[in-house]
Amino acid sequence: MPEVKLHVTLIAHTPEPEKIIAMASRTCYSALDLGGLRDRAETADNGAYIRRVLASGHTSVVEHASFTFGIEGVSRTLLAQITRHRLASFSVQSQRYVSVAGKELFDYVCPPRIAALGEEARAKYREQMRTMQRWYDEWSGSLGENAAEDARFVLPGAAATRITMTMNARELLHFFSLRMCNRAQWEIRELAWQMYALAAPLAPAVFEQAGPGCARGACPEGKRSCGRAEDVRARLAKMRERGKDE
Ligand SMILES: Cc1cc2nc3c(=O)[nH]c(=O)nc-3n(C[C@H](O)[C@H](O)[C@H](O)COP(=O)(O)OP(=O)(O)OC[C@H]3O[C@@H](n4cnc5c(N)ncnc54)[C@H](O)[C@@H]3O)c2cc1C
Repeated sequence: MPEVKLHVTLIAHTPEPEKIIAMASRTCYSALDLGGLRDRAETADNGAYIRRVLASGHTSVVEHASFTFGIEGVSRTLLAQITRHRLASFSVQSQRYVSVAGKELFDYVCPPRIAALGEEARAKYREQMRTMQRWYDEWSGSLGENAAEDARFVLPGAAATRITMTMNARELLHFFSLRMCNRAQWEIRELAWQMYALAAPLAPAVFEQAGPGCARGACPEGKRSCGRAEDVRARLAKMRERGKDE
């Protein structure tokens, strides 16, 4: 099915992230040797400790925990936005090496607002994608070796891609703050919420304050605020409750 939907999985993460973060953080403030710090992380209330450290502004300690996501069914438009996050690591399916020549239709993302217009609008959009597939096939046929390198220029922002992406917890907190906001573009916002749902239960103290600015207080967007801070807080609270059960 060429029309694809966002699918994100958590491929790997630092095991017991809060233990590692607490141990690393206590390295700064304790006379214990590393063996002692490790033992302390086994028995102490790491969540309470991490909350205190984060409240003091010592946020670099959460960089010791990393999360690797598999992201599929997203557009090249999303790719342009997410790769602006310079502290993340990315591996992206290449349009140079992975040709779509001869396919009935390349995989693409349909914006929900177009889909919501109904089947006719959706079919029109699909037809527009087919036109671009024909252009792509024409260039693939006439360019010869390594044709995909240049044929891809006629593919749209809607063309789907897949990404393996790693962020540490500090970058994730920053990413969530910008991209879970209702003012972020819909596709990256949906991805950010799904990433939050996967990562937050694994390190509840680290991600307790995670989310857009309004999760922590007044909306920082001023006049451009979406005015839905209460809804956002309620959604986050519901997800945290659900996370506790899992
Ligand atoms: C709603 C919204 C609309 C946007 N619209 C546009 C737009 O119209 N045009 C556009 O070009 N971009 C736009 N962006 C992208 C935005 O400008 C940033 O490039 C993107 O959000 C990444 O943010 P960042 O640089 O803070 O994050 P990261 O690259 O993830 O960096 C994290 C943090 O590390 C620090 N850091 C990283 N690199 C440096 C550095 N070189 N020097 C100093 N500190 C550094 C900063 O504190 C930074 O906040 C938009 C983003 C959002 C959320």
